[in-house]
Amino acid sequence: MAPRAEADVIVVGAGLAGLTAARQLQGAGRSVLVLEARDRVGGRVLNHSLGGGQAADVGGQFVGPAQRHILGLAAELGLATQPIFTSGLTILEFAGKRHSYRGIPRLSPLQLADSGRAIFALERMARRVPLDAPWRAPGATAADSRTLADWARRSVRTRLGRFAIEAFSRGVLACEPGEVSLLHVLFYLRSAGGFRQLTETSGAAQQDRFAGGSQLIAIRMAEQLGPGSVRLGAPVTRIGQTPSQVTVHAAGLEAAGRRAVIAVPPALAGRISYDPPLPADRDQLTQAAPMGSVIKCLAVYDEPFWRYAGYNGQAISDGPAAQVTFDTGPPSGPSGILLGFVTATEARRLARADPARRRAEVLASFARYFGPAAAQPADYIEHDWTADQWTRGCYGAHFPPGTWTQFGPALRRPAGLLHWAGTETATNWSGYMDGAVQSGQRAASEVLAALGSPRP
Ligand SMILES: Cc1cc2nc3c(=O)[nH]c(=O)nc-3n(C[C@H](O)[C@H](O)[C@H](O)COP(=O)(O)OP(=O)(O)OC[C@H]3O[C@@H](n4cnc5c(N)ncnc54)[C@H](O)[C@@H]3O)c2cc1C
Repeated sequence: MAPRAEADVIVVGAGLAGLTAARQLQGAGRSVLVLEARDRVGGRVLNHSLGGGQAADVGGQFVGPAQRHILGLAAELGLATQPIFTSGLTILEFAGKRHSYRGIPRLSPLQLADSGRAIFALERMARRVPLDAPWRAPGATAADSRTLADWARRSVRTRLGRFAIEAFSRGVLACEPGEVSLLHVLFYLRSAGGFRQLTETSGAAQQDRFAGGSQLIAIRMAEQLGPGSVRLGAPVTRIGQTPSQVTVHAAGLEAAGRRAVIAVPPALAGRISYDPPLPADRDQLTQAAPMGSVIKCLAVYDEPFWRYAGYNGQAISDGPAAQVTFDTGPPSGPSGILLGFVTATEARRLARADPARRRAEVLASFARYFGPAAAQPADYIEHDWTADQWTRGCYGAHFPPGTWTQFGPALRRPAGLLHWAGTETATNWSGYMDGAVQSGQRAASEVLAALGSPRP
């Protein structure tokens, strides 16, 4: 028989959501046990040591000033942010041509106006989406019956306009416009506060990163919880419940509690078996919320040569391999780091390629943007999150047509003694670290309300 453990609340998943929930529950006097499949905490946040005390983020990285949940948590944990380098020209590679620009690229005013109109139209529709119930938005059924691509075919006239929509879908949601419901896009825009918040650096989601790497937030939370409260290498396979008790079965362990918080993405929650089975709509939700596709690539150079040439390291492209790049090196200092996101169709294509070819294609894209020196990094790091067993894609889930209106009400509704957390269940900054923290706080509050005050 597997050894048995007990706690008031069993938390499944030691990502930011699960650890936040556990921290809040423990702070309120409840005993917690966090079961984590991997041999580390953090989930979709992961540090890669660069030596000399420096760490690069292989997973979630950027944080913006409007993300008060994650910023508040990091401040409580004594972690500071540092700005992303943004001075200089940005590169736009579009239809085979390379443009460098500050502000707005010099392209046909007609095409620029068309792109602007498309974004404005999406934002206007997004304002009417209630964040806690997108399925109740005016016109929700129609918006959830078509994809972003369907909408763009009718509403966008120029090639640049279509590219703006594609780049948004690939860069922000990590899927093609034909894979995601228009209603989900509207929810996502509203959840973050608009297009500018999602796509820009200064004053927006890509403004800063956490000094020392985002995984430190998870590591500090786990340290505070104490070693007995977090069990690593414990993939949960089965969860049983009676009216008064939850039993969580993990590799080599059986944990009993009064409630459980399931803090994993919907697709992974659907791989756990439940006894009694989940309500049909909750199970179908897990079947209808695929993860995006991202390979995150980092090239480390002896010096940030692009800065000397007047570039800020940011590129956006409709060409092959990395279609979005950033400079994520230290704001000042000798070395330089270019970050490239390979997403959506390109991520699936390059995930199938052999690693040497993938690396060559990614570096070739960097070289197209910033010159031949970009093809010769001192170090190269990549992580294909679609291949990662305990994530199976990122940044988060995107909802295809039908998911919100058919299964949305099941997203956060507890199933008996089981409560749901994870960034996908957030109302603000869903898909982001901020949303993960918000979801953990909300799930902990639900559990505390259900359990009442602990005995003195
Ligand atoms: C490449 C990449 C770039 C990103 N960039 C940004 C960014 O710049 N800014 C930003 O805010 N966000 C970003 N994100 C998203 C952000 O990282 C996530 O939204 C956030 O970390 C999700 O936290 P979570 O706790 O909800 O889920 P997760 O981090 O996925 O945590 C779930 C945990 O559950 C565990 N688990 C899964 N199944 C089981 C099981 N059966 N039993 C036990 N444990 C299980 C997993 O191992 C994991 O530790 C990025 C993500 C990736 C991958």
